[in-house]
Amino acid sequence: MLTRILIANRGEIAVRVIRACRELGISPAAVYSAADAGALHVRLADVAAPVGPAPAAQSYLRGEAIIAAAQRLGAQAIHPGYGFLSENAAFARMCREAGLAFIGPPPEAIEAMGGKIGARRIAVAAGVPVVPGYDGADQSDATLAAEAARVGFPLLVKASAGGGGKGMRAVSAPGEFAAALEGARREAGAAFGDATVFLERYIQRPRHVEIQILADSHGNIVHLGERECSIQRRHQKVIEESPSPALTPALRVKMGEAAVRVARAAGYVNAGTVEFILGPDGSFYFLEMNTRLQVEHPVTELVTGLDLVRLQIAIAAGAPLPFTQEGVSFRGHAIEARLYAEDPVSFLPAVGRLALHEPPLGPGVRVDSGLASGDEVTVHYDPMIAKLIVSGADRAAAIERLRRALDDYAVLGLTTNLPLLRAVAESPAFVAGDTHTGFLAEQRIHATPPAAAPPEALAAAAIWEQEAGGRRQEAGARSPFESRWRAGGVDVPISFTVGKETHLLQARQSGEGWSIAYAGGHIDLTIIAIRDSELVVAIRDTLERFRVARDAAGDLLLGWRGEAYRLARPAPLSADSVGRAGHGHGGASLSAPMPGTLITVLVSAGEQVAEGQPLLVLEAMKMEHTVVAPYAGVVRRLPFAAGDSVAGGADLIELEADED
Ligand code: ADP
Repeated sequence: MLTRILIANRGEIAVRVIRACRELGISPAAVYSAADAGALHVRLADVAAPVGPAPAAQSYLRGEAIIAAAQRLGAQAIHPGYGFLSENAAFARMCREAGLAFIGPPPEAIEAMGGKIGARRIAVAAGVPVVPGYDGADQSDATLAAEAARVGFPLLVKASAGGGGKGMRAVSAPGEFAAALEGARREAGAAFGDATVFLERYIQRPRHVEIQILADSHGNIVHLGERECSIQRRHQKVIEESPSPALTPALRVKMGEAAVRVARAAGYVNAGTVEFILGPDGSFYFLEMNTRLQVEHPVTELVTGLDLVRLQIAIAAGAPLPFTQEGVSFRGHAIEARLYAEDPVSFLPAVGRLALHEPPLGPGVRVDSGLASGDEVTVHYDPMIAKLIVSGADRAAAIERLRRALDDYAVLGLTTNLPLLRAVAESPAFVAGDTHTGFLAEQRIHATPPAAAPPEALAAAAIWEQEAGGRRQEAGARSPFESRWRAGGVDVPISFTVGKETHLLQARQSGEGWSIAYAGGHIDLTIIAIRDSELVVAIRDTLERFRVARDAAGDLLLGWRGEAYRLARPAPLSADSVGRAGHGHGGASLSAPMPGTLITVLVSAGEQVAEGQPLLVLEAMKMEHTVVAPYAGVVRRLPFAAGDSVAGGADLIELEADED
């Protein structure tokens, strides 16, 4: 009997597992790092134990500390979630030795599928096709280069220990091979302590299609259909759906059976995913097996009506699967969109406080998140804010629902990929189901954040500032400065800086409403409702709903029609800002978008560089980011050397633009 389960994870997946525990009448126990002491997964648990400092290596990855916590808190089982220790065979073995049920596969199956090279061999033995390539033991540069020539270009260099896109490099021509090999080895060595690589032919325009399987400890294995995860950036999934628009019923059966064969060959038990790439001609190749619950498992739950976490728990408790393959049926269509704290164009992660997080509600909408308003996204962990999962009777209905839900999503305080998700949902190619792994790049879905704040947003911000002052007055704390603003019938100047632009407005209260003048026109608005984080105004009889929050620095954050705006009140001109403006003339400093480590400096001081030329490689949040020249120029200063730690915002290089 399981009465308490310890969840060895954080964020949305810990919250997801806690919810399943609650439904089953099982007590959830949390663990947390120093950075997560007040995190949502801790707030929702029955008991919780600290397991170390913020870096995962010193907390969520410390198997002994987690097992000790489980024993101290009286748990009989551990759910590892995904990431962290979920695919760590040694940890699964430690659980077994400590008498704790590991809610996942046996350590032997994790080991068998742990290395991509070993997994490829199991697939081949099970009669499942793999991508043609080289996965031999000889890892010498010469052999790999010769094998690369044999495989042909383009190809992929992949780390056997790889995951999350790390240690993977695409090579389009022989001349690039040596550098790609070095990069893949370096990244894999740093991330996994194993630099073994293999080569695969690069399949053109492939789809990523994966099959969910479930296996019990009595030898029963079923598949739960596919998830199509082709919309990716940096080889990482952004949007997933089920069913795949590319699969026929016959192909679904074929791929499902192949996945079950792989699972059986690996001695698999519990929930797992067999990943394939599917060529445009319908040929499919085994990629790898993920021996854990996947991030995108909810789409399968919505189309099968099954709860994968509850089934995982039942399987770990020794129960047989409650249905056979014939008992699995599919209904409707589900789509998941991953909301990340990241720049929608550069894909660089953003960190900081979520000033407002109000996910959409309504029919067919599910949101799994580990963050509420006021919570922080830190540099230590994955920057995913939430998963938005929608379902509908068919794909078209699911897309309509996705658009509606994305429009309703209020998230303020951090740069997010919401504009990118909206652009994908609107894209004709996506609507047509014409997706492949190069979709985002090929479709040029750049989702640039709006260049300038529209007058409606400026006017709403001006009203908010005025009325916020008024509400403080009711609380009895009004300053003489504010009273000047409130004077009815008088034009009150108010200015905001959005990006680099400063806007001067005149606000005048007139009767029931406000008239806001801006450069180029004026807008009349009436306030319909004003709440803690919400302002609804009528503009020419149409209601406009704004979501509002303030960040720690005092900037006003405004959400409107799916876009987010940051409006700062300009600081008075100082000697410092004048000095900077002068200094910046004709050149620029490229600053670190976040804290990290400089891996490589590719240029030297005095060097002439071309626009787009790679300058530096920075490692941050465990990924490598190449800083390229935004324009042609001469390198004036390089304050850091390879190996240096750099703070977020630090100037990495000073580049003087060429004349014209
Ligand atoms: P990781 O485990 O690091 O995520 P995968 O092997 O699962 O790496 O591959 C990640 C993604 O890279 C796939 O979803 C697919 O988009 C792409 N990919 C992998 N192998 C190939 C290949 N041989 N040809 C084309 N694309 C590939």
